[in-house]
Amino acid sequence: MNNLKNELEKIKADIIDFTKKFIQIKSFTGKEAEATKLVANKMKELGYDEVTIDSYGSVLGRIGSGKTKILYDAHIDVVEAKDEAEWKYPPFAAEIHDNIIYGRGTVDTKSSVISMIYAGYLVKKLNLCKDKTIYISASVMEEDFDGELLYRAIKENNLELDYVIIGEPSNLQIALGHRGRSMYKITTLGVSAHGSAPEKGDNAIYKMAKILERIENKQKEFDKLEGEKGSIVVSNIEARTASLNAVPDMCTIYIDRRLAMGETEDKVNKEMASFIEGIDAKYEIYIAEGVSQTGKEVTLRTFMPAWEISKENYLTQVAIKSYEECFNAEAPLFKWPFSTNGFATNGEIKVPTIGFGPGNLKLAHMKDERCHIDDLYKTIIFYSSVAKNC
Ligand SMILES: [Zn+2]
Repeated sequence: MNNLKNELEKIKADIIDFTKKFIQIKSFTGKEAEATKLVANKMKELGYDEVTIDSYGSVLGRIGSGKTKILYDAHIDVVEAKDEAEWKYPPFAAEIHDNIIYGRGTVDTKSSVISMIYAGYLVKKLNLCKDKTIYISASVMEEDFDGELLYRAIKENNLELDYVIIGEPSNLQIALGHRGRSMYKITTLGVSAHGSAPEKGDNAIYKMAKILERIENKQKEFDKLEGEKGSIVVSNIEARTASLNAVPDMCTIYIDRRLAMGETEDKVNKEMASFIEGIDAKYEIYIAEGVSQTGKEVTLRTFMPAWEISKENYLTQVAIKSYEECFNAEAPLFKWPFSTNGFATNGEIKVPTIGFGPGNLKLAHMKDERCHIDDLYKTIIFYSSVAKNC
């Protein structure tokens, strides 16, 4: 442990320098090319054994070539900062005040990426993983496509993995899973007519009103439940109308439905069917579409169930032991309320996965997003210890 901490001391200036450059890049989803280059170059500079960039722009660094294969992943894309004027410090200036760095991505999830990159360096430098292969994945397009781009990176690089650590803000707690996420689209159809003669038309918006009420009531039911539970939000509404002097003949809403453990597609489909019962409407799972920095199309059928890992799992035990070693305290365990790339690793390819990351998760996507520099250092030490103890 002391070796790790001593070695970390020597590179703190470089970490700060890199962190500032990285936060200053506006690496919005699908537009991460500059960040991809910066990360890949840093890994090469730090002496990684191999650095590759996949066909979507995700970076994969490798250290060692041993039998046990551990993947660390965090995403380099960030959401925009449309409320820029309200920020205390500009979102892409990476200003540091009282040892706190401000800026978009400082918690979600560039700080995790940075911690992983330097943990990889320390692991190699101190020869902590003789019989292991450590992969550091800095993936793209997570914000809109949770898990999909990491899944594609794993397939493209033919990785056979034993353990995965996902970096997302966790307030330095160990995440043992998270809720799932699904998105639905409900459309009502009506009949267009002149605005002066509503009796001749059939207003698609009025039809939607009843559906909206049912959805609002569903969330009220969730509010009354204790413990881990789903949630539902109507996140957007749009209508098709011939003009503002017409009866609209189509209305569409978008629904963000978070999933508790065990909530299946079948179950949620039935719920959607109940919302539209007796109304001329249809529901469908939303297909997210985007284009990568390299011009490749990406689609995702947005239904990602929740997952969890048991406390008894070997990886969880290693994480707990590592935490105790690093911080001389009992390891705090929790589950993320949001979805992450862990859906791909634990959910789809069934590799034991845990999460850990610097920063307060409540600051993700918020104004004044910020992270304590010490959280970064602590995470570097923790990631390195997990690699050593696995
Ligand atoms: Zn995010």
